[in-house]
Amino acid sequence: MNSAHSNSKGFDCVIVGCGPAGGYLGYLISSLGLKCLILEKRVAPRYKPCGGGLTRRAMDLLPFSLDGVIEDMALKAEVGFGEGVEAATVTDHPMIGLVMRDKFDSFLAGKAASAGATILDDTVFETATAAHGGGLDIHTSKGVFKTLMLAGADGVNSRVAKALGLWKNRVGCPAIEAEVYPSSDELLERYRGSVHFDFGAAPKGYGWVFPKADHLSVGVFSTDRKANGLKNALVRYLSLKGLDSSRAKGPRGHMIPLGPRGGPFATKNGLLIGDAAGLADPITGEGIYHALRQAEIAARCISDAIKGPKGDLSTYNRLIDKEFNGELKYARRLGFLLYGLPRLSRALIRRGGERVLACHLDIITGRSSYKKIFFKAINPGNLLPFI
Ligand SMILES: Cc1cc2nc3c(=O)[nH]c(=O)nc-3n(C[C@H](O)[C@H](O)[C@H](O)COP(=O)(O)OP(=O)(O)OC[C@H]3O[C@@H](n4cnc5c(N)ncnc54)[C@H](O)[C@@H]3O)c2cc1C
Repeated sequence: MNSAHSNSKGFDCVIVGCGPAGGYLGYLISSLGLKCLILEKRVAPRYKPCGGGLTRRAMDLLPFSLDGVIEDMALKAEVGFGEGVEAATVTDHPMIGLVMRDKFDSFLAGKAASAGATILDDTVFETATAAHGGGLDIHTSKGVFKTLMLAGADGVNSRVAKALGLWKNRVGCPAIEAEVYPSSDELLERYRGSVHFDFGAAPKGYGWVFPKADHLSVGVFSTDRKANGLKNALVRYLSLKGLDSSRAKGPRGHMIPLGPRGGPFATKNGLLIGDAAGLADPITGEGIYHALRQAEIAARCISDAIKGPKGDLSTYNRLIDKEFNGELKYARRLGFLLYGLPRLSRALIRRGGERVLACHLDIITGRSSYKKIFFKAINPGNLLPFI
């Protein structure tokens, strides 16, 4: 992926990290005619523990075909507690596309490179300092690069956030995943075209089975930041789903930074997107949609700051706060009902699982918001039948 670079004249924007956030931002700002450098500390293809569930709203954002990257499309979602299925929903249009992250991330990086971005793999961002004559000096393991703007797309432990003084108020929760190669095609077929969510598979969390071309991605996620024993929870979950843990690669874990989170998300010439911004969905842990949507907002703000009279990124704070924090604070409250009151949520899923799935579907297709669902949920008339 490496290509020739120029650091003598400098860049309009340096992006740190080439996951979904960085790759897509690189594509967008290069398409706007800006000179962009993406720094990535690892070398492609990079395995990332991730369900690779691209929700409908995430797929709808991307302006190009995902043919060849999507390994399966879910038309069906099932919810339960591990053993059996409590409720299912089937749709006409795919609700979740399933990708392997090494391929998806490389695909987005390819789009960025085709649009004109320079990508440097195997290059670690160290820090950023004010440059003589304006802009920033970006210090890396491969030398110093000059830029007008800096975007941190470097994930949950973002060094850019620390360098910009934007490291605060973070809630990271654990998730762990294995890639399982079932012993029979029948087992693989059982999961084809569907996604499975099992509440309680991890403390204050859930387990999932997502089908890929030749295997299943199976994981557990907890909204309890101190949860331990997730490896054991995953082994138990595999066995409940009839899957043999000796046929599993991994498991590998990672933290997911859950929103809402008090900002700021930008300084005058630096901003954060994706997991670096720390605003993943506090109920499901979904973060790819957030990364892609924040990349869109960031691209507009970076372009306006460089081409317009204002010259800084302050509007990014307002836009991110409004669109993400405004919504995610209701998601967190709903998460409390779902994970903090297990007897109520069991009853909800047992007796109203279809409605729970319908709400989830409305969120991931962009048809409704957590705010609307929260006010419906706390209406005593809607909750009483489940208590
Ligand atoms: C087990 C698990 C399952 C998940 N399943 C889903 C799912 O099904 N659907 C969904 O939407 N979300 C899911 N998520 C969340 C999702 O993976 C993240 O939200 C998403 O990866 C965020 O993308 P990103 O580009 O912001 O960060 P990342 O994907 O973490 O990319 C950051 C990049 O920055 C690079 N980097 C880091 N530091 C430096 C440095 N100093 N210098 C240079 N480069 C650096 C890293 O190598 C990496 O490539 C899951 C997460 C986990 C842990």
